Amino acid sequence: MFHSYLACLFYNVFMYSGYLHNQYDVIVVGGGHAGCEAVLACAKLGLKVLLATLNVENIALQPCNPAVGGPAKSTLVREIDALGGVMGEVTDATYLQLKTLNSSKGPAVRALRAQSDKAEYSRYMRNLLENNENVFIKQCCITELKVENGEIVGAVDEFGAEYSARAVVLTTGTSLEGRIFVGLRSFSAGRLGEKAAIGLSDSLHKLGIETKKLKTGTPARVDKRTIDYAKMIIQPGDEELNFFSFKPNRPIRKTYPCYLTKTNEETHKIIRENLDKSPMYQGLIQGVGPRYCPSIEDKVVRFASNPSHHIFIEPEGLGTYETYIQGFSTSLPYDVQVRMIRSLPGLEKAHIIKPAYAVEYDYVPAIQTTHSLMSKKIKGLFFGGQINGTSGYEEAAAQGLIAGINAFNYINGSEMLELSRSSSYTGTLIDDLVTKDIQDPYRMLTSRSEYRLLLRQDNADERLTPIGHKLGLIDDEQFFRFEEKQRLIKEETKRLETVKIPANEETNKILAKYGEHLERGMRASELLKRPNIDYKIIQELDSQTKAIQIPRDVYEQIEVIIKYEGYIKRQEDQVNNAGKLEKFKIPDDIDYSKINHISSETKDKLSKIRPKDLAQASRIGGIKPADISVLMVLLDKHRI
Ligand SMILES: Cc1cc2nc3c(=O)[nH]c(=O)nc-3n(C[C@H](O)[C@H](O)[C@H](O)COP(=O)(O)OP(=O)(O)OC[C@H]3O[C@@H](n4cnc5c(N)ncnc54)[C@H](O)[C@@H]3O)c2cc1C
Repeated sequence: MFHSYLACLFYNVFMYSGYLHNQYDVIVVGGGHAGCEAVLACAKLGLKVLLATLNVENIALQPCNPAVGGPAKSTLVREIDALGGVMGEVTDATYLQLKTLNSSKGPAVRALRAQSDKAEYSRYMRNLLENNENVFIKQCCITELKVENGEIVGAVDEFGAEYSARAVVLTTGTSLEGRIFVGLRSFSAGRLGEKAAIGLSDSLHKLGIETKKLKTGTPARVDKRTIDYAKMIIQPGDEELNFFSFKPNRPIRKTYPCYLTKTNEETHKIIRENLDKSPMYQGLIQGVGPRYCPSIEDKVVRFASNPSHHIFIEPEGLGTYETYIQGFSTSLPYDVQVRMIRSLPGLEKAHIIKPAYAVEYDYVPAIQTTHSLMSKKIKGLFFGGQINGTSGYEEAAAQGLIAGINAFNYINGSEMLELSRSSSYTGTLIDDLVTKDIQDPYRMLTSRSEYRLLLRQDNADERLTPIGHKLGLIDDEQFFRFEEKQRLIKEETKRLETVKIPANEETNKILAKYGEHLERGMRASELLKRPNIDYKIIQELDSQTKAIQIPRDVYEQIEVIIKYEGYIKRQEDQVNNAGKLEKFKIPDDIDYSKINHISSETKDKLSKIRPKDLAQASRIGGIKPADISVLMVLLDKHRI
């Protein structure tokens, strides 16, 4: 009796919540870096999420370099963290090494990089997903999208199971119609050991969504026990650690070094002699590869006068002997790869665990989506990550988070989150994707931003935490700590303006250690502007400053604010000027064909991309300042 009552109760609860009918609020297709952020954002905001992925063992897999961060990418990770995403937390919990790159250079290019334990990273992320009661994981291949009256209503998997939802986020990575190449051999796969996603591209085509092909590649993995590290140069991490996440209690772990070796004339000779066996050079691969992460054969051909290239040997994890050969990606045949690898100092006896390969896959050019990452054609359909034409975990995660947040906003009827270029690298990345017709895998670089001194890794929290908190992804406790940090920065920056450093013998004795000298007394804030002076030196010079205990991230930000005050002000002025063009909103239904005085090429481009304002229109490749002037006059007079 009691059992049948329980069964009935469970049945009703399940029927009510829709689980027996495969009803969800959101379906996220793909459990990679974009997918995981999208799922967790939606789930934290209270939506029931189905995560459909080809292989649950590969959740948040790093199929290429087991590393997170580096130039521009570290800023993306800090932005993800500030908005309430998880990549920073997962990286901080699973690192093998942490290192701040370019630490002696300007703040715009300083970048934290982590070598990750690949298996731990994946496991940690899976735990986050599985411990969220709103997340339901399913191993399956989504082959079809269901659309009614221009709105997404669900998806179908390879087994014929139907799932209904009000929003779908596609984060399919390199899997769509993926094909792996090793020399002239090729087979269907999204990445080594995982099948390709067949069918979904066709479904997209039927819905009027265009796909194109891109290519990427990865180096071989070798057995650590067969590497002679004595012939390489050790690359240790930092001793004083910086972290990605603003979350407290980050674990201090034992760290491990990477190693450096180099290619030589013998390596280059093997490559040159075998170029005819490359699928790229034979034209078997049509897709364009990542310009900023070329294969070793590309480097040898393009930089023919360079006698050697740096190759970094990096651990993949503590529980494995698998070791990554960074900078040595190739799609040459396996036997050639063996000879190439064994020509490198320290790798003469290397045993290859996994071969290098290239993969060609379908992506959906992002000019078909809006800044919210929603399809312009189908309401409720979002795209995030490599499917939008990018390359890299951090780029994928940032987009996945925005796509997830906007899937929630769409369902909720709230305003879409569209980040501006001046607010973040995330906003810059998305604006580039939806505005420019990307031809090769897009990677985030500091040079892509016109505001890079404003968009630093150290101030990502200041720029985006209030947004994350307002969305409900940053809890009150974290927001309180954030506000405390901002208060400390403001107060201490102001206080330093009142601290006088006298030009006496004692001061100059200390300053001499740093190659500096004071002729006249000055304020601490003025002295801090000198390139050789940092906050710790001011503490040495002034006992009151020394007595103030402020954390490293706080005083480092104060240093940047004071040292680069002039440059920062100039970029802020630039932002204000650009804001003027943003104010010219372009109506959605504008008919460009009817506008006189602009070329037909300009009309085509504007009709295809449909920019939301003049600022976006001005960034479209080939649109001239004269075209913008014409549009400005028309919009101003409301004559369109
Ligand atoms: C061989 C290779 C080389 C790479 N080289 C580089 C590099 O040099 N530099 C660099 O920055 N990045 C490189 N990357 C890219 C990096 O791995 C990706 O940019 C990043 O992982 C993209 O994240 P994502 O979430 O968009 O997709 P992924 O991490 O690829 O995740 C996609 C997920 O979608 C799932 N999926 C796909 N289709 C379906 C479907 N129909 N139904 C259900 N599930 C589906 C897959 O199972 C997978 O879990 C490389 C990737 C590969 C595979």
